[in-house]
Amino acid sequence: MPNEELLLMIPGPTNLPASVRRALAEPSMYHRGAEFAELMADCQVGLQACFGTTDPVLTLSASGTGGVEAAVANLIAPGERILTINSGKFGLRIGEIAQCYGAEVTWWDCRPGEAADPRLLRELLSESRFDALGFAYNETSTGVAQDLSGIAKAAAEHGVLTIVDAVSAIGGMPINMEANALDAVVGGSQKALMLPPGLSFVALSAGAQLKMKQITCGSYYFDLSRALDALDKGQTPYTPAVNLFSGLQESLRLIRAEGVAEVLRRHHCLGVACRAASIALGLELLAADERRASATVTAVRMPDDLDSSELVRRVRERDNILISGGQGDLKGRIFRIGHLGTCRLDDLVATVAAVAENLAEMGCDIDAASAVAAARDAFVTCRENSDG
Ligand code: PLP
Repeated sequence: MPNEELLLMIPGPTNLPASVRRALAEPSMYHRGAEFAELMADCQVGLQACFGTTDPVLTLSASGTGGVEAAVANLIAPGERILTINSGKFGLRIGEIAQCYGAEVTWWDCRPGEAADPRLLRELLSESRFDALGFAYNETSTGVAQDLSGIAKAAAEHGVLTIVDAVSAIGGMPINMEANALDAVVGGSQKALMLPPGLSFVALSAGAQLKMKQITCGSYYFDLSRALDALDKGQTPYTPAVNLFSGLQESLRLIRAEGVAEVLRRHHCLGVACRAASIALGLELLAADERRASATVTAVRMPDDLDSSELVRRVRERDNILISGGQGDLKGRIFRIGHLGTCRLDDLVATVAAVAENLAEMGCDIDAASAVAAARDAFVTCRENSDG
């Protein structure tokens, strides 16, 4: 049985609001009826607000990776060249998917915790011709947010199509898809959108839709032209996860009720507060450049002689709070705090206190009270400075 009291402070799945849980528990709906079409239309408005676009946003019954795969399968023909920013686990995955679909992939490696420099990107794009650029805007494995507008500008200058994994950003970080002239942006349900896993979202620009028409998609289920046609009728091509759609309508209602700008501000300030607390604990942030720090997940280096898996275990057992460890090469060396979705300052403060107290029990010389105060002060100051 899931532990009902466990506070999820991981970068997804996230805690579900009570009203979303109730919506998920509603009777299943007929997916070819008027009621479902109405729900789809309402969700479309909410999703477009989160993506910052008037372009269509497709909802797929698949996890985030499915959305990324769909974007790749529909926008890159076999033999075409894609440059992928290998920022960590999820940047890497875009290239792996593109390889599966026969693309010629060039990896651009970033050091863990670092973002890609748009100036270097410009140079790379001038030196060789690429058809597409793929990257994770918010690299969940390192807590690094790419310079979205800088990268988008460089890609646009070179006429390169952009495929953006925004799975852990949508609903928590600004995307401004239209203003940034991005081509395909992918979101996921179990992150800032406060839903269980199982839905992904693919927004497509007019240019992306045009490119799709020139390509024979190598996937049947993920052929997005069918999804676009079905969207016009308020449907999906195949039976969707209808109960998740009911939950989506409610989570988007909550986001719109709080106000998209306000939701983004809250996330921004939670990120600021989490970083301030980590620094007050005397710990080092993996994303050393504050401007490139994620608003939804913070990755913190463990003291050299300690293993983050032990910290994660202790925080869960002692405090009933779940934080994450590192992935791949970073396993044991960092811990990650997800502050997204329903997360409020009190959740973050409880987490900071739990991390600090457990680190102290593990032998670190740590002042939990000052870390908590740092989180609170930073959050309040951030809110005052970003009001309205
Ligand atoms: N991309 C990013 C940035 C993610 O954080 C995740 C999941 O954590 C994914 C893609 C993959 O999503 P899923 O596990 O839902 O397939």
